[in-house]
Amino acid sequence: MKILVVNAGSSSLKYQLFDMSTNTVLAKGNCERIGIDGVITHKCPGKPDYKVNADFPDHRAAIKLVLALLTDSEKGVISSVDEIVAVGHRFAHGGEIKKSTVLGEEEIKYLESIVGINPLHGPPAISGFKACKEVMPYVNHVGVFDTSYYSTMEPHAYVYPIPYELFEKYKIRRYGFHGTSHRYVAGVAMDMLGNKNSKIITCHLGNGSSITATLNGKAIDTSMGFTPQDGVPMGTRSGAIDPTIVPYIEKVMGISGEEADKLITKQGGLLGVSGISSDCRDIRAAAKEGNERAKLALQILKHNIVKVIGSYVAEMNGVDAIVFTAGIGENDRALREEVAGGLSFLGVDFDADANNTIPSGTVGEITKKGSKVKVYVIPTNEEYMIALDTLNLSK
Ligand code: ADP
Repeated sequence: MKILVVNAGSSSLKYQLFDMSTNTVLAKGNCERIGIDGVITHKCPGKPDYKVNADFPDHRAAIKLVLALLTDSEKGVISSVDEIVAVGHRFAHGGEIKKSTVLGEEEIKYLESIVGINPLHGPPAISGFKACKEVMPYVNHVGVFDTSYYSTMEPHAYVYPIPYELFEKYKIRRYGFHGTSHRYVAGVAMDMLGNKNSKIITCHLGNGSSITATLNGKAIDTSMGFTPQDGVPMGTRSGAIDPTIVPYIEKVMGISGEEADKLITKQGGLLGVSGISSDCRDIRAAAKEGNERAKLALQILKHNIVKVIGSYVAEMNGVDAIVFTAGIGENDRALREEVAGGLSFLGVDFDADANNTIPSGTVGEITKKGSKVKVYVIPTNEEYMIALDTLNLSK
């Protein structure tokens, strides 16, 4: 069973071809700068990586080239497109869609109707889907939505304390994002605990970051909100701040709402505080050399992560496992120690040696044997989750 997973951005199209009978990735790659001056990177285990300039004016041309590469006698891994039984499409926002679903006209109409609340990711994901559907009309196309993991949240977790009409009329509510990643790592953590009825806090810390509380297998709260700007500080996004800051800076700086928004979302976060970079590695390096603002940026990050973890422990009346994942969570040992090392009151018996020796990219525990609360590092695998949902809906 070969499943193609597609993640279409405004000028990019990432893909992975899975063989679900062996749970392996046969090929993966990225078409970048679609409509500008295309470049494609294509990788298959055991073959040399292939990177070449490619002329793809739109997503349709990009997916055609991907299929040509996948079936190429030298660079490819399948002999015919017919071997692909279904395509899974990643959507950042599914609005009110509660679970992964086969995409038909009705679903696409609905997704088109909500692009207003998802202006950045919605249109490219829809055109990516349409391009794939046109090129592969006879297979199942499945939509997997980052938001749908949060369909189990109760109204008290997703309705904002603002006039209720704004929720009813404009659908302003907490949606939550990164759900496919949280679902995957929470599932692995439950397997490691050997208990589906558990209290799990998953910290997806990457360029974009979010923290989710999962109780008995269901998401009950998450730090991202109406948009992915909410929650803990990120590469360039502030995360949660006092909402009146935005109109205030508009007034004192004499700038437009759009410009003020850009300051908070594109020039905020780790970049904004450190003044150095949005990349955590650069900030760590600068902090080591004594840069005070780099140190402050990392302290603010840790402070906010701990604050959210604490609030979720309170919401669930306890916690069984805390999980670190994504670029920072999987690699930044110092941050893991700063966060988890300070949670001994909860019953976290942190294992500094395990934290320092666990190889990057592997699953492991960084608490001592017998620790009441476990802390795990679990590399995320959203693409596999998408492939799995796609397979299950295509049987
Ligand atoms: P995205 O949200 O774009 O998918 P990733 O999950 O790839 O992002 O995470 C990117 C972040 O991970 C960057 O801030 C990067 O600095 C950080 N990162 C990657 N490797 C390390 C490392 N060894 N130490 C600290 N941070 C790291």
